Amino acid sequence: MACGKFDRKALYINRLEVLGRSLHREQQLSVFHRGFVGLDHEDESEVKKYVKGTARRSATRSGAGQSAAQRTWRRASGETHQFRTAAIEAAFGNEFRVLAQHYPALGFEEETGLWVVVESYPLGSHGPQINFVIALKLDRTIHPKAWAFRSLGRHKKLMPLKHTNFPDASICAFPPDDGSWSWQDGMTALVDHYTIWAVKSLHKEQFGWWPGRQHGVCALYRRNEFVPNEACGCGSGKPYSVCHQTKDFLVSESFARQEFRRLFRCEYESRRPPVTVEQAAAGNWAIMPSMALLI
Ligand SMILES: [Zn+2]
Repeated sequence: MACGKFDRKALYINRLEVLGRSLHREQQLSVFHRGFVGLDHEDESEVKKYVKGTARRSATRSGAGQSAAQRTWRRASGETHQFRTAAIEAAFGNEFRVLAQHYPALGFEEETGLWVVVESYPLGSHGPQINFVIALKLDRTIHPKAWAFRSLGRHKKLMPLKHTNFPDASICAFPPDDGSWSWQDGMTALVDHYTIWAVKSLHKEQFGWWPGRQHGVCALYRRNEFVPNEACGCGSGKPYSVCHQTKDFLVSESFARQEFRRLFRCEYESRRPPVTVEQAAAGNWAIMPSMALLI
């Protein structure tokens, strides 16, 4: 069909708009098999329009974060991968095998932790493919870190920088201490959160604004990254235009920069992923970065 490609694109852009409206109203979303993001009322038959293959829905729910309820399909066959390093197998083996039932996933062991590369299809099989590369340390006092790339054939393109951390441009899907996710919730729940983040990022790219609640703790950040109809970053629940926007633009550039430096210990413009992470993406994960040097 000559128009097949166009139809598919229209389908997922329409889907993105619907998800954006739902996020804007702070409605719950569900994450299905391979990261497909569903609306709370949607069932298996509706989701099948977007997702290839058959899978049964699991009854498990975990990690009741503010944005990602988990209602995930499991693949019929489980993954059986065993890690060679005893410490890695003990810490991550079971979690990884569960993850691999929900998302296509690769694991790379190293001395201090595990790298996981995940494919996620938040808008369905024909929509964008997102790769998350996630560093999980054996030391659980260190929060996981992840970067997101859009996969365009063999080319990997870093997702836009909005709601990424300073200075390493890792994903900021939720504040680490707000109870959205902890180690007990598991890897699958973590990737579900990243998947919802990716939907917001794709929405911003397509429609120009970030849907749903967001955090932004200082004037320089907010005035550079927020548009008027987005939620203000202060937690008021009001649009930025009627909350902090006017005040933020009254702050002088030098004061705003000073405040930013005090909070983030770097310049606003300095944000970028570690070179080794970009190289790993460019090489399609053939060579992974050394975690000890990064985190
Ligand atoms: Zn505000």
